[in-house]
Amino acid sequence: METFAKIIKKMYWLGLIGFLGTFLDIPVLRLFYLFFLLAIVDFVLSFIIVIRTESTDETAIALKFLSQNIGMLIGIPVIYVRNLFFLPNIRNYKPQTLYSLPFSGCWTVANGGINRETSHSWSICNQRYAYDFFVEENGKTFHGNGKSVSDYFCYGKPVLSPADGIVVEIKNLFEDTSIPEEQEVLCSASDVRGNYIVIQHAKHEYSTIAHIKKDSFCVNVGDKVCRGQQIACCGNSGNTSEPHIHFQVQQGKSFLFSASLPIWFTKIINYTTSKADSHISRGQIVENQK
Ligand SMILES: [Zn+2]
Repeated sequence: METFAKIIKKMYWLGLIGFLGTFLDIPVLRLFYLFFLLAIVDFVLSFIIVIRTESTDETAIALKFLSQNIGMLIGIPVIYVRNLFFLPNIRNYKPQTLYSLPFSGCWTVANGGINRETSHSWSICNQRYAYDFFVEENGKTFHGNGKSVSDYFCYGKPVLSPADGIVVEIKNLFEDTSIPEEQEVLCSASDVRGNYIVIQHAKHEYSTIAHIKKDSFCVNVGDKVCRGQQIACCGNSGNTSEPHIHFQVQQGKSFLFSASLPIWFTKIINYTTSKADSHISRGQIVENQK
């Protein structure tokens, strides 16, 4: 593609011959103006080349981040059309897999739920039923001053496969985003997920677990994984305010063009409701049954 882009870049200068056509009043030479249209092709190709590169320079990161946000906006109508305007919800969706929590021990649901009020992000339908989890002790998520990712209780803890499946995608490219001064969300990566893994559990059920610590993956694409098997460690890569696990189940492999699915959990303890709930929501403290 790079070679093609270079040829296009040279060819659009042929458009200058069009001026000669105008000057000498030769209509056929005026047709050369059409070569200027190749500038648009050149722009699109350059954009695609930057998006495909593994480069981590600031311009490449900014352009990739922009393209993902544009993709997310385009993805919303695509998801609606693919589902004939009936997005999966807790009443109409029949789960193909029951899920465990992707960690061991007691964690807090920092964000997420099955309705508009508790949803991770209701209007962003590729993440509508996503969950964020972190570890809290006495109302705090960190020890020390909380300025370093390693101050956070959940940082580096094992991330577990939420069900049996096959690993279909892994990204292991980004360093942790640093902790912001104010309580805000930052992103030092070109992908909001940072490092992530996608596991296929059923024909139309895939899970994504994001913000993984770089180089902590202990599985590869193509591996079969079992429920509860360690797959990586919790980190702070991507778009985050502090270390946490982002977990979602989606219809397809594509993050941007797949509807988020409500999750049915199995064999978990919800310490907030004191029940073995199938659905959980923000503020609750949860753990897998042992
Ligand atoms: Zn999240």
